[in-house]
Amino acid sequence: MPSLTVFKGTSDGSIKQSKTEKPELSGDQVLLKVTASGLCGTDLHYRHADMALGHEGVGVVEEVGPQAKYMKKGDRVGWGYEHDCCGHCQQCLTGRETFCAERAMYGYADLDQGSFAHHAIWREAFLFKIPDNLSDEAAAPLQCGGATVFNALHMYDTQSTETVGIIGIGGLGHLAIQFAAKMGCRVIVLSSTDKKKDEAMKLGAHEFVATKGAKELKVSRPLDRLLVCTSAQPQWDLLMPIMAPGATIYPLTVAEGDFAIPYMSLLLGGITIQGSLVASRYVHQRMLDFAALHNIAPIVEKFPMTEEGITEAMAKLDKGDMRYRGVLVPQ
Ligand SMILES: [Zn+2]
Ligand SMILES: [Zn+2]
Repeated sequence: MPSLTVFKGTSDGSIKQSKTEKPELSGDQVLLKVTASGLCGTDLHYRHADMALGHEGVGVVEEVGPQAKYMKKGDRVGWGYEHDCCGHCQQCLTGRETFCAERAMYGYADLDQGSFAHHAIWREAFLFKIPDNLSDEAAAPLQCGGATVFNALHMYDTQSTETVGIIGIGGLGHLAIQFAAKMGCRVIVLSSTDKKKDEAMKLGAHEFVATKGAKELKVSRPLDRLLVCTSAQPQWDLLMPIMAPGATIYPLTVAEGDFAIPYMSLLLGGITIQGSLVASRYVHQRMLDFAALHNIAPIVEKFPMTEEGITEAMAKLDKGDMRYRGVLVPQ
């Protein structure tokens, strides 16, 4: 009987180390030793829930179940938000299993385990081999943050001739800049102040616009796409005038309340608001290969995988001080 050390949320928001007892491996399940986990904004949302936290996992296969076929002991793998799906509905059959009605997602299913842990057990079908030139610490934030921004760009057919706006330079935004730039797009980064300008340009941005206090924004080209990577909803009256006709807006960060946007500029510009969610397995593996080929990697701050380490990392993320993704590493 495998016993997993996990780190859970609690009603008062503190982090508690705990044990999860699991039956012996069955089907295509695989036992993993966790080697790194990213800390995502969504983990903050669940810290008051009685559930194991973490969904940007990287680990090494220690044991495989009786029907596991392509994972073997010693393989280095990652996993993210989705752990299972029905496998036979129209969404699954068309490679869009993230929209399967029976999807098993972080926060909704398998609450007894996560990537803030020493071990985990998942179906091999939902694990991704990590390319050799991506370290564990670099690969972890790609499992949710990287997958989320890459999916928005790749799934909706971004063209290299387009101008992509990215607002917010945090865990998601700093990866989105790299992916969009390596896809060949003109990348315009918007942030409240100039503070992160040098870093954004180094990551591949072509232009940088500070928004705080601005009455209007000036860009060299209107935006064909805008990836919203801010923790709060942006100031839409400022942004709508720089959107190209027919542009698409992708709200990627989780926010409370309704999505509100100026009505007339949406209609007159023929703007699309596109919901988008992590990545299907097909897109996820392509994302990892693309990142490995183009040396795309997150900028990370490491913390120990302990109650104190997780607490400290969460406090830093909550304050907006993380540069740019926290990664927890078992001691
Ligand atoms: Zn996430
Ligand atoms: Zn399905």
